[in-house]
Amino acid sequence: MTKQLIDDFGRRVSYVRISVTDRCDFRCVYCMSEEMTFLPRAQVLTLEEISMVAQAFTELGVEKIRLTGGEPLVRRDIEQLVDDIGQLPGLSDFTMTTNGASLRKHAQRLYAGGLRRLNISLDSLDPERFKKLTRTGDLTRVIDGIHAAKEAGFTRIKLNAVILKGRNDDEVLDLVDFARDEGLDISFIEEMPLGDVSDHSRAETFYSSDDVQALIEKRYTLTPTTETTPGPSRYFRMADSESRVGFISPHSHNFCDTCNRVRVTVEGRLLLCLGNEHSVDLRAVLRRYPGDMPRLKEAIVNALPLKPERHHFTTDGDIQVVRFMNMTGG
Ligand code: SAM
Ligand code: SF4
Repeated sequence: MTKQLIDDFGRRVSYVRISVTDRCDFRCVYCMSEEMTFLPRAQVLTLEEISMVAQAFTELGVEKIRLTGGEPLVRRDIEQLVDDIGQLPGLSDFTMTTNGASLRKHAQRLYAGGLRRLNISLDSLDPERFKKLTRTGDLTRVIDGIHAAKEAGFTRIKLNAVILKGRNDDEVLDLVDFARDEGLDISFIEEMPLGDVSDHSRAETFYSSDDVQALIEKRYTLTPTTETTPGPSRYFRMADSESRVGFISPHSHNFCDTCNRVRVTVEGRLLLCLGNEHSVDLRAVLRRYPGDMPRLKEAIVNALPLKPERHHFTTDGDIQVVRFMNMTGG
């Protein structure tokens, strides 16, 4: 019987998010500051190290892996990594979160490598506003990337939209309609206080999932689904569409009691909780004992008691976690 990862609160870890790069071609206002310093390459896990971490987790019963960043598609040879992870036995759900801008180039290869699901971030359908929110992004490339992903065979693509008060809250219904027209799911995410992003005070821009839901319900009746997904979204359906609407609400609906996730940062830090600093340095193990799978697995198993019971985000604008989101991966 495979050893499983069960924490001190009886939660089984079945899902790992791995950040493959801290770099990105966008500079979204809620995620990064305008001037970012990225890590020297030597501090970032190599692709071989990332593959080994993924293998260790699947051997410990993890069934779902999400690659994220930073922007995973700016990591050189990302396709090779997808090929390697896509072949791991025991993996039933292999996904990536991307800003979508390079999907025209990569979608087919990713699908061929075994990646089956994509989350694509999209916060605005207005090109100028999109550019403002992402500081560098080109909306037409992202929309074209979504089409390329569909053409490559990806189904159940999910959009992720972070809603900020006064910035894009007036686009909630347009985003839902876009998802419906394109046959996509969409999740609305509450902004989390990760890193000092300099652009705005988080307290000013906080927009709760309940408010987003109320806006949508002006046009559509949302029926809660009983579907359980491996992530933290709460999902709803509309009577006349296949698209699902989800809410990820780290502030207003605490989801810690069913948390099945851990994260591996771009530097190989195993983070037991997004909202806390408890972590174990897997890179140190990987580099001290190259290729030693039993030792790597032991380090992961030994880390589990560090998983805290819950996070304590607040909406008062305090920065509680100094990591930027691009280090951790969303
Ligand atoms: N670059 C990819 C992308 O944008 O989809 C993957 C990494 S990004 C950090 C993952 C997700 O985190 C995105 O959907 C993004 O909107 C979200 N995100 C970034 N900073 C956030 C924050 N402070 N609060 C909530 N979500 C955030
Ligand atoms: Fe880049 Fe994604 Fe962060 Fe935007 S949210 S800056 S696309 S890593």
